Amino acid sequence: MKTDTAPVRLSDYRPPDYLIDTVTLDFRLSPNATRVTSLLAIRPNGDTRRPLVLAGDQLKLVSVTLDGAPLPKERYRATPDALEIADPPQRPFKLEIVTEIDPAGNSKLMGLYRSERTYCTQCEAEGFRRMTYFLDRPDVLSVYTTRIEADRTEAPVLLSNGNPIDAGSVDGTNRHYALWHDPFPKPAYLFAVVGGDLGVVTDHFKTTSGRNVELRIYCEHGKEDRCAYAMDSLKRSMRWDEVAFGREYDLDIFMIVAVSDFNMGAMENKGLNIFNDKYVLADPDTATDGDFAHVEGVIAHEYFHNWTGNRITCRDWFQLCLKEGLTVFRDQEFSSDERSRPVKRIADVRTLQARQFPEDAGPLAHPVRPEVYHEINNFYTATVYEKGSEVIRMLKSILGAKDFRAGMDLYFERHDGQAVTIEDFLACFADVSGVDLAQFKLWYSQAGTPEIVANGSYDAKARRYTLSLAQNVPATPGQSTKKPMHIPVRFGLVGPNGEDLAYDAAVGAAVTGDVIHLMEPNQTVVFSGVSAPPVPSLLRGFSAPAKLMMELPPSDLLFLLRTDTDSFNRWRAAETLAMRQLIAATTAVRMNGAPKYDDAFVDALGEIAENDALEPAFRAQALQLPGEADIAREIGNDVDPDAIAAGRNGLRAAIASRLAARLRRLHQALGSSMPFSPDAASAGRRALRNTLLDLIAGDGATEGIALAVERFRAADNMTDRMAALAVLCHNGAEARLEALDAFHRRYAGDALVIDKWFALQATTPTPDTLTRVKTLLDHPAFSIGNPNRIRSLVGSFAAANQTQFNRPDGAGYDFVADFVLDLDPKNPQTAARLLASFRSWRALEAGRRQKAEAALNRVVAAPNLSRDTRDIITRTIA
Ligand SMILES: [Zn+2]
Repeated sequence: MKTDTAPVRLSDYRPPDYLIDTVTLDFRLSPNATRVTSLLAIRPNGDTRRPLVLAGDQLKLVSVTLDGAPLPKERYRATPDALEIADPPQRPFKLEIVTEIDPAGNSKLMGLYRSERTYCTQCEAEGFRRMTYFLDRPDVLSVYTTRIEADRTEAPVLLSNGNPIDAGSVDGTNRHYALWHDPFPKPAYLFAVVGGDLGVVTDHFKTTSGRNVELRIYCEHGKEDRCAYAMDSLKRSMRWDEVAFGREYDLDIFMIVAVSDFNMGAMENKGLNIFNDKYVLADPDTATDGDFAHVEGVIAHEYFHNWTGNRITCRDWFQLCLKEGLTVFRDQEFSSDERSRPVKRIADVRTLQARQFPEDAGPLAHPVRPEVYHEINNFYTATVYEKGSEVIRMLKSILGAKDFRAGMDLYFERHDGQAVTIEDFLACFADVSGVDLAQFKLWYSQAGTPEIVANGSYDAKARRYTLSLAQNVPATPGQSTKKPMHIPVRFGLVGPNGEDLAYDAAVGAAVTGDVIHLMEPNQTVVFSGVSAPPVPSLLRGFSAPAKLMMELPPSDLLFLLRTDTDSFNRWRAAETLAMRQLIAATTAVRMNGAPKYDDAFVDALGEIAENDALEPAFRAQALQLPGEADIAREIGNDVDPDAIAAGRNGLRAAIASRLAARLRRLHQALGSSMPFSPDAASAGRRALRNTLLDLIAGDGATEGIALAVERFRAADNMTDRMAALAVLCHNGAEARLEALDAFHRRYAGDALVIDKWFALQATTPTPDTLTRVKTLLDHPAFSIGNPNRIRSLVGSFAAANQTQFNRPDGAGYDFVADFVLDLDPKNPQTAARLLASFRSWRALEAGRRQKAEAALNRVVAAPNLSRDTRDIITRTIA
């Protein structure tokens, strides 16, 4: 398959030929003709005598001078993609480059663009080169001074990285300027400017050493009230990083700007985070508990980057997980401390299984640290982020909390101000602990989800329990054979009274504390002095991102569900029991049989629901059945989404009918007249109550639907309103139409809330949904220029509506393929991401597989595909 450019390989890495010590920028903002003047202090990096090649992307050069004198035409070559000087001075010199760019015409949302009327930037990964020619690579670190000038009426607010050092009027005009200086050397991807007419909320934070930091959150005028939770989350994040990692904030000011057109979630630009407004704005009437949790998590994540990403950055983009995996781990730990640790863990593992496992099992599989890419934008993946975080978590499990913290401390001390690699990072932990991490490092280079097969047997006479473990890492594209990994298996041997049994000795594998270090393809651990036959509880807390295969009988799983001291494995027992029934039901449906469901399992769910000793948020998690996509992933091949949906609906109906009275009684009892509070405990009660509502309505019978209608009307917050409306939509109830209209009337004009309205309609599993989605493309609130709208309507349909996206006639595939082709020239990054919803197409049954392939073949045959989309489609059909 032909691709646009040669791939970039980790093995080809070479240090930069030139370094840029300081960058002095001047932005004259204007919608269609912004002039950017860039003065670079450049010096050769050693004696390479190579040409100086500065990267560009669709640039128009106005002028270039070297040490103050215009550079003669024959000394350089300028194209939209590069500025090359064949024989630059082999001493420090100054290069001034003037370019002109068109922010209003920039629909890719990379570089400088306009969101509504606000000028803003996105430079990661390679957006800086869309503003001026530069050594746009993360290992070139420079000190930036930035002057921004704009019309005072159009852009009264002018921001950049660092601290503000000057501001004023431009004489004789309505224009003004601001001057910012960032003392911390940084790569270009962390640069940002903002200009616009924005509202602001201010606060302050005193750091542990007593420095006062000004905090500002900028947003659209009139939305200031919705920034309170974000500000609170920011202050809690700053405090937590001081306590948990000893990291203090370093500038005089920290700013967040919320914009509505944004390709990603948020961006950690030094001192000036730019956010998708979806992750800043939240109040009880417009945001769900899930939204509040996301705001908290994303604010924390971007703030934590100040140390893991900004002060210490990546040497090259292959090391992306060095900042992302580590920072996801840090934000997950923060949320665990702020909320419920077990519930957070379950939610994170659910996300990992839903997003990363299919990636690892499909054509887009890649290692946590990829070794080759065509387009780096396509590697901002669940593997780099979520699996990358799991790798850090395993490192902590293997070393223990004390050595882990010591390794982090050494990392901050040794590499502050540098651009480093995974090897540099791991060396810090090996140095403080003396542990050999060579085998562990395979987690960074081997793609695929390891499978662990476990078998146990108890010898009562010898009081011995024998546990055999085998590991296998499946083949993935480009990696046909794998080496055994170092897998930390956290475990307990649960005795008859529910407590972990003690043992005298464990022989056969290294065991430290409650962790078995599985390092060989096969290992047998013999525990001696075990007083009773145990039920093994393995991979506690999901101690490794692996698939555990152990054929425990249902009675053992029910036992773990009721008694395991590890909350995660209690949840996992419920999930395993449910999954077995759902897979059997799917098979029965496909063979035209009637699925059977186990009453003992359903009764156990009733017990969980009513168990007041368990926190409500945990009960909500345990009561939520695996989703249709989860079941498809477990089945793995010859997938028929309609059969899966029918089998799952059957189980929901069985639960609704067998537990009806108990669930209703509990739902009633959980009703409360307390005013809304977004705290974790209150959110947990709402989650349980809304999960109960979903189960009560699971048989689609009129009483359950009537209850949902009643709850929709009575709701005094968005969490309850959305939950009730989702029950109506996901059951395909006729009553949804009136409720959707009422919802729209109430929130018309509020784009982020209308996104929820789009998503609910796109995920309704009825045959008219595709038509409805197509109609909604013409809705006045929809815009193909805004990624949030696209993700809500088209993205939800493709990723979260299993039966309708996978319609047997292929119309769902055609629709998404056509939309991708339409979007690609405007916003390739978002188009390529949508296309990734085809990643599991080979697992489908033959009919759908052919239809999906035909749609994919149409995309690949289209002329002039972007590099982003070309890369995804090529790998998807390879
Ligand atoms: Zn990040």
